[in-house]
Amino acid sequence: MRTSYEQLKKLVGQGVDAIDTPAAVVDLDAMQRNLNRMAEFARKHAIRWRPHAKMHKSVAIARLQLQAGACGVCVQKTAEAEVMAAGGITDIFISNEVIAPHKLARVALLAHRLAADGGQLAIAVDSAEGIRRLAEAMNAARADTGVAAVIDVFVELDVGQHRCGVAPGTAAVGLVHEIRRHPALRFAGLQAYHGGAQHLRGARERREAIGLAAGAVQATRAVLAAEGIAVPLVTGAGTGTLVCEAASGEWGELQAGSFLFMDADYAANERDPAQPAFEPALFVRTQVISVSATHAVCDAGHKAHAIESGLPRVHGAPEGLGFFNGGDEHGILRGPTLPQLGECLWLVPGHCDPTVNLHEHLIGVAGGLKGGVIDRILRVDARGALT
Ligand code: PLP
Ligand code: MN
Repeated sequence: MRTSYEQLKKLVGQGVDAIDTPAAVVDLDAMQRNLNRMAEFARKHAIRWRPHAKMHKSVAIARLQLQAGACGVCVQKTAEAEVMAAGGITDIFISNEVIAPHKLARVALLAHRLAADGGQLAIAVDSAEGIRRLAEAMNAARADTGVAAVIDVFVELDVGQHRCGVAPGTAAVGLVHEIRRHPALRFAGLQAYHGGAQHLRGARERREAIGLAAGAVQATRAVLAAEGIAVPLVTGAGTGTLVCEAASGEWGELQAGSFLFMDADYAANERDPAQPAFEPALFVRTQVISVSATHAVCDAGHKAHAIESGLPRVHGAPEGLGFFNGGDEHGILRGPTLPQLGECLWLVPGHCDPTVNLHEHLIGVAGGLKGGVIDRILRVDARGALT
């Protein structure tokens, strides 16, 4: 039978041994330390931070981040924005392009709902067609609601990932003019996020990549300035490079999300000396269900943790114990010292965001993984919110 939120709630106060496997577990103390490190970093650099909620998909965690000083949340999907808004989050940035008119109708309706509550919705664009469709949707929502909301619009630049975004330079000018033609749209600035730089292993490589991105932002700013257009804000940065964006002076807002939970892929980056010492806070608890002379097998396969960015690491394992892919429901453990039958292990997933999306709940543990107690159950509210 599936374990419900209500059943999980009954575990609160019990030790970690009460957690059935496999389960996604958050070390709440480690998470809080990561949050404090991020808040302090942002304060020191006098920069805004708008953490990416696509990572945790949890309204309760978004609230914690806002309490710690975040200016709002980023989401990637319209549905994630709707979930966050339904949970009472009022300052939301869809850091992504939305093109389908039926989705834009939802975006516009949400912009009007948030505005009526004193909140604000923002969105990224990279085409004149996208801007016109957004404006049409905003006009229709205004007619329907009787509210005169304005949506913040960020022009996305391709600063090196070659994903969304227009080329740096003159292409942004036409888009800003298009935004300005529509009273329900406000040009809020540039989105400059370099996803391709986040996992460059060397700190110097990452600095070089963001150095180039900063040059692209600067060049675009200059072209816009020549047209009399000021850029109110540049937003971007992930966990791997945020120290570079913060130091550059070009960015005014950091979007990093993974810093809160971290993962094995980020742990494999060479740490930049300026980078806050973020630590793993998301784990998959798993039990050894079979042991042979050569290997052990645990009950967490890639239905319990995402493997597209690499396999998990076994946390606090004896030297040399490695995790190997055992398929959907199994993990294979090999090393000089194997765990025993029935023993429970903690895995640090390869990639936090898609791992969270595999789980309905995150079990929050206080007092550390060893000897700690189940403190709260966090719902993954926006799980599967893909549209
Ligand atoms: N901003 C955008 C546009 C992203 O796509 C992402 C992640 O892919 C982030 C911010 C956050 O990056 P991270 O979770 O690696 O810190
Ligand atoms: Mn990610």
